[in-house]
Amino acid sequence: LLAVSGLQKSFGTNRVLDGVDLEVRRGDVLVLIGPSGSGKTTVLRCLNALETPDAGVLAFDGGPVVDFSQKVSKSDRTGLRDRSAMVFQHHNLFPHLTVIQNVIEGPIQAHGVPKAEAVARAETLLARVGLSEKRDAYPSELSGGQQQRVGIVRALALQPSLLLFDEPTSALDPELVGEVLTVLRELANEGWTMVIVTHELGFAREVADEVLFFDAGVIVERGAPSELLRQPKKERTRRFLDRLL
Ligand code: ATP
Repeated sequence: LLAVSGLQKSFGTNRVLDGVDLEVRRGDVLVLIGPSGSGKTTVLRCLNALETPDAGVLAFDGGPVVDFSQKVSKSDRTGLRDRSAMVFQHHNLFPHLTVIQNVIEGPIQAHGVPKAEAVARAETLLARVGLSEKRDAYPSELSGGQQQRVGIVRALALQPSLLLFDEPTSALDPELVGEVLTVLRELANEGWTMVIVTHELGFAREVADEVLFFDAGVIVERGAPSELLRQPKKERTRRFLDRLL
């Protein structure tokens, strides 16, 4: 579905991504792990065109193919943004809009979907995550887990080919983490292609097709979760995992 090569990004003199290569196959779940500041969030933001890399190529099957060492056209940038949808650590819902208004906003504004169709799509998705009865509630009236499930529905409503999750459970109270992971598990089982930044290693072991360990802007090690999480080959990976467990 997507091939990324030579991704580089600096903020000032801080080289945050130092040549990242990865491939996402259709239906795969990639989990990115690594210490704080290692560049995981920046990778997701580059994939979603929220950041502009200094160099590197993002190539989606069937386009767009964007080479960031050249000037990037507006249509390439839009094409890139439309291919994926991001779920943030903090749900980022609009507080002054109801649940359904939050979900239909993107499809209507960004994709020109007719309102009736956007509403129908939103209702189906809300039902799937058990939130039909919260349709007209405001975000502040929901629990953190419910808010995050709406955040996921909002991403799904955009019908992206790739779902990006940036630590979707790390801002939640521990007892609310499970309901969000359940939704992610279901999406994985349904064949959604996902790239997930998370510290939930148990979850990673269960759903990931591949785990990538980041440190200091590079992928230090990658592999199947059964190997990388149990028997990492690199000392740096081992040290990181030891600290988490
Ligand atoms: P975390 O788990 O803490 O989110 P991360 O691995 O996702 O860590 P990034 O958020 O990608 O790491 O950040 C990598 C580095 O880039 C950090 O040093 C951060 O301070 C820096 N950084 C990220 N965004 C910006 C920005 N907009 N301006 C300046 N520096 C930034």
